[in-house]
Amino acid sequence: QTAIIWLRRDLRLQDQPAFAAATKIADYVLPLYIHAPHEERPQAGAASRWWLHHSLSSLRQELRERGSDLFLDSGSSTSTLMRWAQANSASLVLCTAISEPWAEERDNKTAAELAQAGIELRITADGLLTDPHAIRNRSNTPYRAFTPFWRQVRGQLNPPQAKPAPTSLPPPPGHAHNSSAELEQLNLLDRVRWYDKFADYWQPGSTAASHRLARLSPEFFAAYPDERDFPAQPGTSLLSPHIHFGELSIREVWHQAAHSQPENHSGPANHSGVETYLAELGWREFAYHLLTQQPNLHSYPVDRRFAAMPWRDDPDNSLYSAWHLGQTGIPLVDAGMKELWATGWMHNRVRMVVGSFLVKNLRLPWQLGEEYFRDTLVDWDLASNSMGWQWVAGCGADAAPYFRIFNPVRQGERFDPEGEYVRRWLPQLGALNKKQIHQPWTAPAATLDSAGIRLGKDYPWPITDLQSSRREALEAFQSIKG
Ligand code: FAD
Repeated sequence: QTAIIWLRRDLRLQDQPAFAAATKIADYVLPLYIHAPHEERPQAGAASRWWLHHSLSSLRQELRERGSDLFLDSGSSTSTLMRWAQANSASLVLCTAISEPWAEERDNKTAAELAQAGIELRITADGLLTDPHAIRNRSNTPYRAFTPFWRQVRGQLNPPQAKPAPTSLPPPPGHAHNSSAELEQLNLLDRVRWYDKFADYWQPGSTAASHRLARLSPEFFAAYPDERDFPAQPGTSLLSPHIHFGELSIREVWHQAAHSQPENHSGPANHSGVETYLAELGWREFAYHLLTQQPNLHSYPVDRRFAAMPWRDDPDNSLYSAWHLGQTGIPLVDAGMKELWATGWMHNRVRMVVGSFLVKNLRLPWQLGEEYFRDTLVDWDLASNSMGWQWVAGCGADAAPYFRIFNPVRQGERFDPEGEYVRRWLPQLGALNKKQIHQPWTAPAATLDSAGIRLGKDYPWPITDLQSSRREALEAFQSIKG
């Protein structure tokens, strides 16, 4: 018999449960990707679609090397699956779960409709280390805070070792009726090619993902706690888009970290590095756990009081535009937004700083930031992005308290002490010293002159005063607190 593998967020062959099952039970395997953006809630943005385009291209290549292919189509998932199943006499469709509320709802409906036509849809868990629906605290309710969540989960985690990729995937006779669409016909890429430069930084696909994972040495994990907060350093793993699209099995990522030991290692020094890294994977699990509790996590504050927040009027969008274009006059914020635009990624520390600046200093709704990140991050992930923005805004389940307002100048001095990160993304400030580069408006006129910087022309004056905007944010918060 023929089994269709319905590919979604599991774009790999290694340790991929649907492929592993198909090779055991089916004579022929038909890997199919269906582009159905109208079913996504919310829809993935342009950077994420850029990644997907190239990831599909890479997977197709890998499948062709094994005598198979990746078939492509677009339209409603249910009717497309039905058509492909009937044309290829397949009575079984295998896929792995996407633990997002809209996808779970869609998949249940699809399973029911396919069943009526005598086609079984078999969904296997994948993509997470935990079942986000199943975790409960002692009072049998879901967790609202990370620390107790992780305390319980960490002790129980022992994911199975990764299974190898199948060596052969015989395609159905007649080579898949219903001819496949070309990748370009899926129209994943925006017409304006603003994303072309992403290719200088990233290589989507499971082959590149595996190389990146393999390069994470024991030394990397040992240094991780100290280096991960410094955006100029290559101190984080850069795995997030690969993990999001399932180009890596999350179990494999876990084992790479958990079993890492430096050569000649003695003592527990490395242990804390590994644990810190595993806890970051834990935050991702927690984000999905939160999403099960609130499907509209990307748009509605967990702390309901924030629905009444008096946000600032920005009638001509000038504040928001300055923020997203990286023209706020606050170097660390602007550098972060330039990094995002150029690479489709931003360092976690800087994500927190630009987020805090938008929500607290500019007092604009966090949902604007969530939406902008959704469109521009190659690692955009509904659960992690929604949790991240709610955390930054102070309205999340386990969030930074609202009154803890990042000062972007102090953050720069602390986490980019040499000004290297700012210099990389704002070369026009390159001649300033490490103190001035985080607050160019304080540099003496003669220094700015000799550095060739005319404030207001080569680089903006700050669009807001950090002290008074901080005060106003605290007052606004007071007004909703009761
Ligand atoms: P590493 O430090 O190497 O971490 C390893 C992995 O752990 C990451 O790849 C990621 O899968 C996971 N992880 C790490 N930190 C977090 C976290 N705080 N929350 C959830 N998972 C985490 N992450 C996304 O994957 N997609 C998003 O859309 C996203 N949006 C964010 C928005 C805001 C406002 C903030 C503050 C954070 C957001 N994050 C998001 C979390 C974090 O910034 C990224 O996961 C991280 O920067 C990815 O880089 P890395 O792979 O080098 O991370």
